[in-house]
Amino acid sequence: MNTVHLSPDLRTASGELPEGDVPEIATRNACKLCSPLGAALVFKGIRGCLPFLHGSQGCATYIRRYLISHFREPVDIASSSFTEDDAIFGGARNFAAGVDNVIRQYQPELIGVATTCLSETIGDHMLGMIKTYQDKHAGDGPPLVHVSTPAYTGTHSDGYYATLLAVVRQFAQRTSLRLPHRVNVLPAIMSCEDLRHLRECCEAYGLSATMLPDYNSTLEGGSWDAYHWIPPGGTSLDEIGEMGAACATLEIGHTQAANSQSAAAWLQQTTGVQRLALGWPLGICLADHFFTALSIASGRTMPRRFAEERARLVDAYVDAHKYVAGKTAAVFGEPDLVVAVASFLSEIGIKPVICATGSKQKQWKELIREALASDIGEFTALSGADHAKIATAARELKPDLLIGSSKGYPLARELDIPLVRLGFPIHDRIGSQRLLTVGYRGTLELFDRVVNALLEVKQSTSTSGYSYL
Ligand code: SF4
Repeated sequence: MNTVHLSPDLRTASGELPEGDVPEIATRNACKLCSPLGAALVFKGIRGCLPFLHGSQGCATYIRRYLISHFREPVDIASSSFTEDDAIFGGARNFAAGVDNVIRQYQPELIGVATTCLSETIGDHMLGMIKTYQDKHAGDGPPLVHVSTPAYTGTHSDGYYATLLAVVRQFAQRTSLRLPHRVNVLPAIMSCEDLRHLRECCEAYGLSATMLPDYNSTLEGGSWDAYHWIPPGGTSLDEIGEMGAACATLEIGHTQAANSQSAAAWLQQTTGVQRLALGWPLGICLADHFFTALSIASGRTMPRRFAEERARLVDAYVDAHKYVAGKTAAVFGEPDLVVAVASFLSEIGIKPVICATGSKQKQWKELIREALASDIGEFTALSGADHAKIATAARELKPDLLIGSSKGYPLARELDIPLVRLGFPIHDRIGSQRLLTVGYRGTLELFDRVVNALLEVKQSTSTSGYSYL
């Protein structure tokens, strides 16, 4: 096994060096979450769906804990609760008992089954188990959909996109029918507010959007008078069934554009729905692409309110350019978000000197470079990175700020630079569900946060303590 000599970046949480060499392959403070979490997020965005993890109970608990602390909502995830026996002999018995319990207790419209590392490793045959269960119950009960999510081969992002494909493949009807003004929207892993704004944009162009997933109300609902076993909201199975009859699919995320196995690619290949592959619409360039796509799908020009938002955004760039020009940033998190943030930063004069993701992306640096709004020269692109690698690069390149999830806080504290919280998970602040980072409006919100973070440093490190900037 390859080993590396210890360097200071391998310090433990208590600041001490562990003893001995650390395997080069070991992840130190992961910059990713596990694949079934991405699957659970998609399932939470389908009406009446209950996520079900086939594997050990701890996996469901870990994923629930992360989703709850980010979204601040109750999140139920069922599990087949493997014991030692199931790990050896297979989990078929627990699976059937678990599904029985879920149907009795939750009466779901759909059960979304994702496999964990353990069940993937022992090779449980999920499709066979599902068929056996359904045959035994003569087709009674809700449908089940399965997605394979071994976390050792991917991240929460990979699990998320794999689940989109699994759901669309199982439920979208193969049809040549076209529903006028109907579009599919396949968002990246975004906030609830982002999902709401994407829908608002579609509606402003006269388009009716089937968004998959749509967890805007299931993961940020109002307070209830009575408890709901499954929170109301989400995309219905009927709507998903009609996705094959939409006029176009707006697929958001740079990493998906080249993916011939994505849900939008499948829809195009199978039912002829036009695939409009877009980046995350953050920054003027990428938001322009998004609004142009809406014009293509609707045949309409940009409504006045968005033109006004764009003009305000340009004005804000001009107002604050002197505070951001020449600054540097390290960006980390989900790959689609990192690409979009890098593009946005290159637009406002901040150089993203480090662009890191825990996801293993082919051609990662090229993907980012192609999305940049301007040439920023050389930068460090880390794919499959952990926070130890990001820290090593940041100690060397000394960025002025970090942009990413709460996991960047220890590094921000060590380097004494601000952390602009973005992505998943954010569990040391309130309101992550309401962060808007799409469209001109969302770009303006992020722009203000970035500029103010830099101004705060300028002000707090000033010897004169001035209050007029
Ligand atoms: S064992 Fe695998 S599936 Fe379970 S929590 Fe850990 S990484 Fe996720």
